[in-house]
Amino acid sequence: MSNVHELGFLREKIEALKEQGVYRKLPVLQGANEAKILLDGKEVINLSSNNYLGFANHPRLKQGAISAVEKYGAGAGAVRTIVGNMAIHEELEKLLAEFKREEAVFIYQSGFNCNAGTIQAITDKGDLIISDELNHASIIDGVRLSRADRAVFRHSDMDHLEQILAEKRQEYNNVLIITDGVFSMDGDIAKLPEIVELAEKYEALTYVDDAHGSGVLGESGRGTVDHFGLQGRVDFTIGTLSKAIGVVGGYVAGSKTMYEWLNHRSRPVLFSTTLPPAAAGAIIEAIKMLMETTEYTDRLWENANYFKQGLGQLGFNTGQSETPITPVIIGDEAKTMEFSQQLLEKGVFVSGIVFPTVPRGTGRVRCMVTAAHSKEQLDQAVEIFEQVGQKMGILAGGH
Ligand SMILES: *Cc1c(COP(=O)(O)O)cnc(C)c1O
Repeated sequence: MSNVHELGFLREKIEALKEQGVYRKLPVLQGANEAKILLDGKEVINLSSNNYLGFANHPRLKQGAISAVEKYGAGAGAVRTIVGNMAIHEELEKLLAEFKREEAVFIYQSGFNCNAGTIQAITDKGDLIISDELNHASIIDGVRLSRADRAVFRHSDMDHLEQILAEKRQEYNNVLIITDGVFSMDGDIAKLPEIVELAEKYEALTYVDDAHGSGVLGESGRGTVDHFGLQGRVDFTIGTLSKAIGVVGGYVAGSKTMYEWLNHRSRPVLFSTTLPPAAAGAIIEAIKMLMETTEYTDRLWENANYFKQGLGQLGFNTGQSETPITPVIIGDEAKTMEFSQQLLEKGVFVSGIVFPTVPRGTGRVRCMVTAAHSKEQLDQAVEIFEQVGQKMGILAGGH
């Protein structure tokens, strides 16, 4: 018998991953995350990041980080509830609340952490959580940590959501409806006006995880709630500071009562040290930039539409996307991975996404266009998509 400390039980599972062809090594970036990157020693056009606005390596954010480090140091030194709550964290929360046009914002170390901490803090035994079936993994984990009962509605299916509400509402104290604002694999937007109407009709609370909507949708990136003009009608709006905002962190926007309660009972604030000053300083610059001008979000949408149009004209299937997330649906899993590999060889990095992340037979490469891409880079990428698409017989009428 082998020694358990050799972790043979994990070795077996790793071997199984290799047999299924899903074992992978992480690609290594030799520099900042930008429109063009040095990846494993090769210069390629980057169509895989969540750096929507090109903020991750922006000089103003870097300067904000440096200034914050000089004043506050490298780390917060304690959890916020003891002595890690710095003026820069309070400043960040006030600025975010102003930006989001909500009463209050409570920050977290990441978007993931925000879902893990918030959902369990605002729900209890005797409550029901109703969640869209395509919600993000961190919501699923967050829901698992709650003592509430749970139900799942079919993706964006309002009839199904209403059926669950009609059937179950009476049995519970509070009901919390949770949805992504923008769904990350297809780029479709939640039917938020209808969800809010149903929530009001059945006296349910609403919780929108707007990780892919923050910095993208609404006025200068204020998000999906702003896009639909629903301020004040969504109880909890989650945003990430790690995608369009370009740094790291997460937050929930809502009422002052929400803020007070999370401050006392959200486990990531009680048991985990908060954002480092550098992150807070950089994020403050990013939010100020969005409050000063819409030029970043304007360019993001212009680039996204330009690229989508280019792929669409060639005959690629870009699915149901309503946002800069541009899936190119290939179908077969192996073919999808091969497509991604050949694009990389020709100088475009776009990751292949297959089962179990998306349903079987709907493999796709997911293109993430940013404000930082030049038209020339996008033209070049479209040309490479055409070459590889014809070579692999993905585009009809290849010549
Ligand atoms: C990316 C993502 C998160 C996690 O955000 P991080 O800040 O990277 O931890 C949470 N929810 C959704 C819907 C996301 O897309």
